[in-house]
Amino acid sequence: MKNRSRFISVHHSLKFKIAIIILLIGIIPFMVCVPISLREYKSVAIRTDATNLMAQALQYNNQIVTSGYVSGEPNNMLDTELKAVADSNNGRILVINSSLKIVRDSFSADIGKTVVWGNIIYTLQGEQKYYYDEPTKTIIVSVPLTNSDGEIVGALVLNKSMDYIEQNIDIFLSYMLIAGVIIIVISILVSVFYSIRFSKPMAKMADSLDGIIREYTTELPEQKSFTELENVANKFNQVIQKLHSIDESREEFVSNVSHELKTPLTSMKVLADSLNGSEDVPIEMYKEFMVDIGDEIDRETKIINDLLSLVRMDKSGAQLNVSAVNINELIEHILKRLKPIAEKANIEVVFESFRPVVAEVDEVKFTLVITNLVENAIKYNNEGGWVHITLNSDHQFFFIKVEDNGLGIPEESAPHIFERFYRADKSHSREIGGTGLGLAITKSAIAMHNGEIKVRSKLGEGSTFDVRVPLNYIEKEMQ
Ligand code: ADP
Repeated sequence: MKNRSRFISVHHSLKFKIAIIILLIGIIPFMVCVPISLREYKSVAIRTDATNLMAQALQYNNQIVTSGYVSGEPNNMLDTELKAVADSNNGRILVINSSLKIVRDSFSADIGKTVVWGNIIYTLQGEQKYYYDEPTKTIIVSVPLTNSDGEIVGALVLNKSMDYIEQNIDIFLSYMLIAGVIIIVISILVSVFYSIRFSKPMAKMADSLDGIIREYTTELPEQKSFTELENVANKFNQVIQKLHSIDESREEFVSNVSHELKTPLTSMKVLADSLNGSEDVPIEMYKEFMVDIGDEIDRETKIINDLLSLVRMDKSGAQLNVSAVNINELIEHILKRLKPIAEKANIEVVFESFRPVVAEVDEVKFTLVITNLVENAIKYNNEGGWVHITLNSDHQFFFIKVEDNGLGIPEESAPHIFERFYRADKSHSREIGGTGLGLAITKSAIAMHNGEIKVRSKLGEGSTFDVRVPLNYIEKEMQ
């Protein structure tokens, strides 16, 4: 089992694949080219020799025909000449008459015999033919013999041994064998070299990643091997940085949470201790301290509830329960609930809608968005101030504007107000009773709806929060 998985991992390794590819690139062209070039060489050599032989045979046409040699007239001179030609070709010459009878044979073996070769029949009809006889490695050409009237009176057959081709091929093959061995050795060396060169930086990177997994602090060292690997290393570094920043913000969040949760507890402890530590405490003081303790419990509860909302919102893959919601009605409903708080501070809340808006939103989460914005506009306001809420839409988005003429936000704080636990004016916020989580919740909820929120504010003059959300919810594709 272990061996098998080892085999599979070797089999899938880049090193192995590169080695095989380079080997194949070296060997395949060689294996393909050698047989093709050999075949080509042989056929060209046969064709060339056949053409030369035919030309040679045609030179003897007149001599053979006019001397009556084709009709069987003896001619010693021609006998010798043709024998010399046959010997020089390491072959044989036959003269065949129109009745397919051999009348001359440079081997003197078959004179008087009748031939029945297809090529001779075609030749006696006027065609020049050649044929390569593989077993005897001989090329046989036949040309017609024609008299002065153009009549075909016989055929001249010339054989030539092609042994020399086979010898050349053998020599060529032995050279190719040596070349093949050299190519295989070079391919193996090149493949080993390149497979090591390719896989070494990968192994180095895997080692560095091991280090990161163990310590989770370092960065990948700079990769100077291939652009692709450099890109991968850069991306890894980005991921590592992202993980670091997530880690840092998580740590900061946890310490903020502990701090925030501790503060009301500390206050309650101080109140309780001071009651326990003093004797004969009047009942009024007990009552007063108990009210304070109750307030601190409310505050603790609010922080916990806000934290729960935030965590629910932050959870990756958090689901939106989207439905078509009448935003006008939703805002009116929320304002009705917040009216008592506004009235307490003598703050005028005005809602203006430019058109009826129905949008696909998660009603619960969107209620949180509007509530937080309007609540803040009331909370961070002056006695007798105003809050204006406007609702509008176009064909794609709906817009909610929450405007107040309250305390405003200092310029340097504006970029941070959406961060968790951030409070522009800590002492004031505490007095007002904020947790610093409201706008973080608001922003997350809006982001989940693929919308955005912006703030404009001037210290001492007031703030305007602009929200833009698509009318139709489109689920974001998982990345
Ligand atoms: P909090 O619970 O403190 O209200 P938020 O996240 O809702 O927390 O707001 C963050 C901070 O932004 C607040 O502490 C306050 O300083 C500032 N802020 C938010 N809304 C307003 C506003 N309408 N006017 C002035 N300051 C605001």
